[in-house]
Amino acid sequence: KTDEAVFVGVRLRPFLGYESRQQCLTASGKLISVVGEFPDKKKKDFAFDCAMDSTDASKPDYVSQEKCYEMIGRRMVQHSISGYHTCLFCYGQTGSGKTFSFMGKKSELEQGLLPRLLRDLFGEVESLRSLGGQVQCRAQMLEVYNEKVRDLLEDKEKAKAPEIHVHPKVGVYVDGATDVQIETLEQLQKLLETGLSRASVAATMRNATSSRGHTLFRLLMEKHEAHTVVSSEVFCVDLAGRENEKTTKVTGENFVELTFINRSLMWLAQCIQGLGRQARQRGNSDEVDGSSRARFRNSKLTLLLSNALAGNSKTCLLGTLSPAAVNLDESYVTLNFASTVKSIKVTAKRVAKVDK
Ligand code: ADP
Repeated sequence: KTDEAVFVGVRLRPFLGYESRQQCLTASGKLISVVGEFPDKKKKDFAFDCAMDSTDASKPDYVSQEKCYEMIGRRMVQHSISGYHTCLFCYGQTGSGKTFSFMGKKSELEQGLLPRLLRDLFGEVESLRSLGGQVQCRAQMLEVYNEKVRDLLEDKEKAKAPEIHVHPKVGVYVDGATDVQIETLEQLQKLLETGLSRASVAATMRNATSSRGHTLFRLLMEKHEAHTVVSSEVFCVDLAGRENEKTTKVTGENFVELTFINRSLMWLAQCIQGLGRQARQRGNSDEVDGSSRARFRNSKLTLLLSNALAGNSKTCLLGTLSPAAVNLDESYVTLNFASTVKSIKVTAKRVAKVDK
């Protein structure tokens, strides 16, 4: 039994056309450093498991999509094949590169973490199958939008909202969500595309380029070994972007969305702070106390993430950051969030049950 910290990576995106090029953050090795004079910012260095510099593609240490996957995504493949639950989630300000890192673009070179992860995972599944192994995969895709859970694999008209339940033994599970049996990688890729196109409808209607809901992708694998079934769950979450309610210019419906986003991210931060505090106090015990568990019930998002953060999962966070000085306040929120996540200890066990 090992008590293991959550793996935390952070990534600096390039400057965008509209940003003035005053750089306030640098990334190197495991360190993000604040450069320049910002008197109200006391902490200058933040250490993580890796700090990726993707600001300039012409630099030798530039972290491409592929490198980013090698550094934080690939580890999840081996964990899942070995029978651990895994969770990968991205957190950051709107426009900081969450979706680029997570999904990326269509071209193979610019594919993000999720398509690469699924490709490798399925490669493993196929080689197990070719050796006579029995592996079953099922996928789900959900969105939490304005505190409602939507099934992204279901046509809108038919959609009956899935419900989240808490089971004393199994933990949190979702009832009434479409569960698609997956046979091939192509089928999985198509499913992902369809799901995402449904998620982005809300976004384009509101003229936003970033998604306004939290997108959750879940792949369940069952591997039959001798007399046991090893089941593992891969859970990938692209969180909606946080924005400052005071400085943003959104109004009306968009403001309601933003309030929901910020509120659920605040609950998430509080849950994580609680777990971090507890990890520091408890030393080696892996029990999560009641108050930490209770905090997860405050929102749909935290409930859905509770197994990954407080339960039995190998979890990985990618914090995305803008290098620009104008975004420094927001970047501090992300850096502090990521540091707190780093202090959480999670115990993951292989999940095996006896086959009938
Ligand atoms: P978010 O999902 O956090 O709102 P996006 O992923 O949409 O942000 O990124 C905002 C913009 O920055 C997009 O145009 C995206 O293509 C670009 N971008 C983000 N990260 C990178 C990166 N690492 N390399 C190149 N372009 C990036």
